[in-house]
Amino acid sequence: MRIAVGGFMHETNTFVDAPTTWDDFVRAGPWPTVTSGENILTVFRGINLAIAHFDAAVQAAGHEIVPLAWAAAQPGGRVADDAFERMATMFLDGLRRQAVDAVFLELHGAMVTRAHDDGEGAMLARVREAVGARVPILVSLDLHANVSPQMVEHADFISSYRTYPHTDWGAAGARCAQWLDRVMAWRRPARALRQSPFLVPVTAGCTYVEPAGGLYEQLRAIEAETGVHLSLNMGFPPADIFDVGPSVTAYGADQASVDQAADRLLAALQAAEPAFAAHNPLPVAEAVARALAIAATAARPVVLSDTQDNPGAGAPSSTTGVIAELLRQHADRAVVGILHDPAAAQAAHAAGIGGTLDRLGGGGTGPGQEPLPGPWRVSALSDGRFKGTSPMLRSAETTMGPTALLAQNGVEVLAATIRQQPIHREVFTHLGVDLGSRKIVALKSSAHFRAGYQEIAEEVIVCLAPGINLEDPAGFKFTKIRPKVRLRPAR
Ligand SMILES: [Zn+2]
Repeated sequence: MRIAVGGFMHETNTFVDAPTTWDDFVRAGPWPTVTSGENILTVFRGINLAIAHFDAAVQAAGHEIVPLAWAAAQPGGRVADDAFERMATMFLDGLRRQAVDAVFLELHGAMVTRAHDDGEGAMLARVREAVGARVPILVSLDLHANVSPQMVEHADFISSYRTYPHTDWGAAGARCAQWLDRVMAWRRPARALRQSPFLVPVTAGCTYVEPAGGLYEQLRAIEAETGVHLSLNMGFPPADIFDVGPSVTAYGADQASVDQAADRLLAALQAAEPAFAAHNPLPVAEAVARALAIAATAARPVVLSDTQDNPGAGAPSSTTGVIAELLRQHADRAVVGILHDPAAAQAAHAAGIGGTLDRLGGGGTGPGQEPLPGPWRVSALSDGRFKGTSPMLRSAETTMGPTALLAQNGVEVLAATIRQQPIHREVFTHLGVDLGSRKIVALKSSAHFRAGYQEIAEEVIVCLAPGINLEDPAGFKFTKIRPKVRLRPAR
């Protein structure tokens, strides 16, 4: 068979004003830049991405890959129409050039564009129109997808990640390959979508903790019993769209078993609502005090999650609340990252090691942007390039741009030029920072950091410092969400 493959991934925070432009897709970060044509067959090899694992599996089965295009950008504001149209053109041109037997697309599921509240639904509608009703479309989605009826209408198979941190991007692609023969045989598989009556805060959906971890075990148990393929999406709350929120998708041979399996998994999600509601991150002052108390006797660092400034949810990654609190409470051997502060990184490179900066941070908009006065001493510099070893994206070349480590009293801050989450420990170690010798490691990340840092942490404390990625979804001003959806889980 000839199978067209491509990808287009963006998690859109509609409460962020700045649009996500084509340049944001072109800029390389933790994953490859925009890739098209034959390069798709080589660039992704060995990377933990769905397209890589799908391609490897179907090629091993003797099928031919027809490469389209692939692009991903850091989460942020609505995707510019121009970027969406460029990708659509690359997909549709590739599909027009030759007939294919199936299509695989690596999508996120929470893309919102200027013109389309349901970015993936709009893209899938165009792909469906291009290939016709009889060519199956298989899709991998992020666990944070906000799945719409239109997406399920056009996608003949959806497999979403089952881990958060997402260590199984690749496995989602492999599952699409495993189910390919069945999807081809069914032509139009039976399918179901169930949307949750409540939103789940991002940190509560982490599968390292309950109830999320156990829900994915239930998913696998229902699949094993029924033979239906299930996905449980936790949704991405900061999106003012009709279809925001958690959902279940189900695909299989017959409608009755698909409906039944979807209903069982939705019931499990609803039964977990009080456990989701029990998640209770600490205000920053309390979190730092607790971290200092634990660190006083611990052999390993305490890890603080500055979730409300997580760039992985579209936040600017430039707030200073946690740093200020660490300084205020006289923290010793504390290190913070990644502060997105291109001006500080550039100034540090100009000043050289041992030089000083008279301010840090405060470059973004929104809450928590108070600059921190100096002196900040430049203690390490790099070009921000390294190979990361976190199981999330092992072997991907990471680029943070010019990067600097700046110190004041017992607090060090890693400032980088390209905005991204600290997924890999190499974010720090490539600059010579020995994390094991630090008492506190504070990370601008909600859960992805755990795949790289949990194993070295004495304890992880999620803290609430001022930032736009509100832990409590009820803080967002929704205008388009479905009626009667609870904005936070009820106890
Ligand atoms: Zn995600």
